[in-house]
Amino acid sequence: MKTPTMFKKILIANRGEIACRVAQTALRMGVQTVAVYSDADADARHVRACDEAVYIGGSAPKDSYLRWEKIIEAARATGAQAIHPGYGFLSENVDFAKACVQAGLVFIGPPASAIQAMGLKAESKQLMEKAGVPLVPGYHGSDQDDALLQREADRIGYPVLIKASAGGGGKGMRAVDKAEDFADALASCKREAINSFGDDAVLIEKYVQRPRHIEIQVFGDTLGNYVYLFERDCSVQRRHQKVLEEAPAPGMTAELRARMGQAAVEAARAVNYVGAGTVEFIVEQPQGYAHPEAMKFFFMEMNTRLQVEHPVTEAITGLDLVEWQLRVACGEPLPLQQHDLQINGHAIEARICAENPDNNFLPATGTLQVYGLPPYSYFERAPLSVRVDSGVREGDTISPYYDSMVAKLIVHGATREEALARMDTALAQTHIVGLATNVQFLRHVVRSASFESAQLDTALIPREANVLFNREDIGLTLAAAATVAQAVLREQRKAAGVDVNGWTDPWAQRDGWLSHGVSRRSFALNFKGEAHSAVLTRPRAGGMQLALAGGEHTLQFAQSPDTDASAIDITLDGERLALQVYRTGDVVHVFAAHGSTQITVVDALAHAGDVQQEGGRLTAPMPGKVVSFAVKAGDAVKKGQALAVMEAMKMEHTIAAPSDGTVGELLFAPGDQVTEGAELLRLEAA
Ligand code: ADP
Ligand code: ADP
Ligand code: MG
Repeated sequence: MKTPTMFKKILIANRGEIACRVAQTALRMGVQTVAVYSDADADARHVRACDEAVYIGGSAPKDSYLRWEKIIEAARATGAQAIHPGYGFLSENVDFAKACVQAGLVFIGPPASAIQAMGLKAESKQLMEKAGVPLVPGYHGSDQDDALLQREADRIGYPVLIKASAGGGGKGMRAVDKAEDFADALASCKREAINSFGDDAVLIEKYVQRPRHIEIQVFGDTLGNYVYLFERDCSVQRRHQKVLEEAPAPGMTAELRARMGQAAVEAARAVNYVGAGTVEFIVEQPQGYAHPEAMKFFFMEMNTRLQVEHPVTEAITGLDLVEWQLRVACGEPLPLQQHDLQINGHAIEARICAENPDNNFLPATGTLQVYGLPPYSYFERAPLSVRVDSGVREGDTISPYYDSMVAKLIVHGATREEALARMDTALAQTHIVGLATNVQFLRHVVRSASFESAQLDTALIPREANVLFNREDIGLTLAAAATVAQAVLREQRKAAGVDVNGWTDPWAQRDGWLSHGVSRRSFALNFKGEAHSAVLTRPRAGGMQLALAGGEHTLQFAQSPDTDASAIDITLDGERLALQVYRTGDVVHVFAAHGSTQITVVDALAHAGDVQQEGGRLTAPMPGKVVSFAVKAGDAVKKGQALAVMEAMKMEHTIAAPSDGTVGELLFAPGDQVTEGAELLRLEAA
């Protein structure tokens, strides 16, 4: 047998952070890279991260990143020997994996037969049952008769979970609490399944109590060797999608780890798996969080690709999993054996998404006007404490075409406690302006009692809802102080014509407003929808006075030396705080170590008569596709009732009635693409 040689050139059939991340390892290994890109991504970061790039079509995934003929053509034209599919898109597409091989290219992933075997949740479960891997009690037969499914659910006992057999990404899943609700839930699950996956087959499972999602990273090579690279705990989820992931799993015992690792290896072996894969288990905690000895694990599914959260495994093992993928794909044996592998410290990953957690995680689009990240570096040999995997740069646009994940923040520490503290700091140093993100929400999750004490299960977010949503970490006083300080410092800079550093007295300068001889200035502000006035005065030498409706405050401020113009140092009522303050138009974005907020400076003249009148109009909150209308013209509706469903950024959003009323005209049909702000239907308020 000839010795395998490393690829000279590979094509990366993906975009965003994962394409950049794969390119990074290739670069380090001396492997050339070819990017592919759509219209929306013509100037994307992943294009620049690769040595060459090939245009493959329109912005919608079906016109570019899912066009596998085009991608294979690009690989041939550029002389790439192999294709790395990343995750999502074509990574679990059996036809694509086959077509690569037929075209004489190496698919960097498992054989098509393994993808196929694991592709359907129901069939893979039948296979796992044969291989002796424990399954959640349930029904995964091919008979899909409604009455039979209801009988099976009754037999399993409620609550049950209905899952689309072809489902993924948290879609096509319904929890059912009682027998009476089963038929409706089944119908809606089937509808979503046929729309999203073109297949309405479902399976039914017992809904595991106090469930934890713990998955095992496995690796196989072409010589039949297997190892597991320990576990990741991905229990912190919203809408069945992962939010925070960590490794190792808190409370895991060596004994349970070995059993789960072995079961995962058996699962991989049963399908002759090659490359990186993840076996997901749902873990029952019948006696509560502190009793790992009572934990029971059941096979959920196998993801036959690199996983979004693979960096936490890299952090605790000191390995580069993409390097392993490349080595295995060109025929090398696994670089290490099971007994060579060990866990070092603790790692946590947070998924930074463009979305509004306070509005049911509605995805957001827009331009990254400020994209400030904590100091970081990739984990190389020695684990460093902060890593950022990102597919965007400041100034880039988050478009509605792809999913809403902007970046991943990964931290490592000697202990979980240390990693947790690092994550909190790293999130505090993540400053994104221009669109809504979940950064502050993630900080609240990380600091919640449940997360801090590792009381993990998939209901953590709803359980801690009180401390996670609609939080006000920065109140009016600090927001107003930051705004007036920045306004004065800006004028001072302008007047001085140079950068003003250090503690200086704004009143000592001959600036715009002092030249009128008035040591007093008022600002009209809008904070959380309410108008406020702030008056800054200097009654006598020394500090300044800030008057707000709530009272008087002492205030001093300066531009911090050695930093950019957005760094401001303020002392408010005796407390000194380092702030980052950015301004976009009238909006001032304030970031402090303990939180962030926005406040608007109202220019009374400019805004006179500019009244927001949305009465009766129901508009698309973002660009996307109309999935369905739940009402028709003439229907009487109640406040909060679902009117229409839209799909954007791979998620469905329900548009609800803002008040009681009667539905007027429907202005679009299901399937129509709509732009942001487009009126979807008319509603006459009662
Ligand atoms: P992981 O299991 O690695 O955490 P996710 O389940 O979040 O990853 O999925 C990874 C990516 O693939 C995400 O961008 C997700 O939207 C996408 N994805 C996963 N499964 C599907 C599917 N069946 N159809 C479409 N997109 C999917
Ligand atoms: P997807 O393909 O969307 O990732 P999974 O089958 O992997 O779907 O399940 C996703 C999530 O749904 C899990 O991480 C878990 O939170 C929840 N879940 C799945 N099966 C069960 C179950 N039987 N009981 C309780 N929760 C479950
Ligand atoms: Mg899953």
